[in-house]
Amino acid sequence: MVNVLFAAGGHRWRQYERPLREALARAGVKAKPSPDLDPGAADYVIYAPNPEFRDFRRCPHAKAVMSLWAGVEEILANSTLTQPLTRMVDSGLTEGMVEWVVGHVLRHHLGMDSHIVNPDHIWNFDPPPLARDRRVAILGLGELGSACARALAALNFGVMGWSRRPKRIDGVTCLQGRDGLKRILASADTLVLLLPLTPATQNLLDARTMALLPDGVILLNPGRGGLIDDEALLVALDAGRIAHATLDVFREEPLPNGHPFWKHPGVTVTPHQASETRPGSASDLIAENIRRCEANEPMLHLVDRKAGY
Ligand code: NDP
Repeated sequence: MVNVLFAAGGHRWRQYERPLREALARAGVKAKPSPDLDPGAADYVIYAPNPEFRDFRRCPHAKAVMSLWAGVEEILANSTLTQPLTRMVDSGLTEGMVEWVVGHVLRHHLGMDSHIVNPDHIWNFDPPPLARDRRVAILGLGELGSACARALAALNFGVMGWSRRPKRIDGVTCLQGRDGLKRILASADTLVLLLPLTPATQNLLDARTMALLPDGVILLNPGRGGLIDDEALLVALDAGRIAHATLDVFREEPLPNGHPFWKHPGVTVTPHQASETRPGSASDLIAENIRRCEANEPMLHLVDRKAGY
């Protein structure tokens, strides 16, 4: 029997208790998941940052910590974490992100705002170009970025993507390195940020890189707030160089009331809800990783601490 400490916040236990028990049974793992387990007896820790649990030294025997979140920069910043860390890859999380990204790309592609609010009853609009004539650039071609790239390519958008290591995705132009970044930024009609926040990606979109974007570009950021220099973004929005920014993630969350993003006409704020981990599908990964670790097989989606994701 393995002891699994659920240290992801009491409110989440209600959502996870049943799917987790069922997934562990399906995986053939004899395990006791509980939020009330003595941390000193935990073999595994299921985790999302929360004020109730911040000290991993309380779990000296834990073989792994399993994040319920895909983005792990906050957990990696916790110096008490010495155990191997896995991150969340969940089909439900991926589907949700594809829906958010495709929805917001289509909003601007089709000029939907002009019809949703049309107080002067304007009748004559130029038709939008076809998707085949619009280029979407995605920074980050991991689990989420590559799924969004495939979905947009299936709609005929011209899709380009940027990653650290070389990638091959049918119908998507994949680039790497500083030159690749320059090329991709220079030709984006819509730019989507789906990078993790690491020392290498912090402030990636600053005044210098924003200057490479074509005038009138649309920016979508469901990645992390720290990828963008906020001051530089406000300057680019005021100058009309960036036509609109739809931001889901911020340096400080919830976004403070007085923050200029709330009232800027060129900004849409969505409250970090682009996509959520779904307990049903996420529990399968957790159960599979416990099964693997108990069988001395490599766990899936281990975080590379050096790379920071
Ligand atoms: P992955 O780790 O699967 O993918 C990350 C991608 O970014 C990879 O393609 C990676 O390249 C690339 N990358 C990392 N560092 C660099 C770099 N220095 N230069 C170029 N490319 C780089 O992550 P996911 O796709 O699962 O998630 C991406 C992010 O989305 C998460 O880290 C999180 O911050 C955010 N997120 C936001 C949510 C929301 O609701 N707003 C929900 C879930 C996640 P390579 O392929 O070569 O490794």
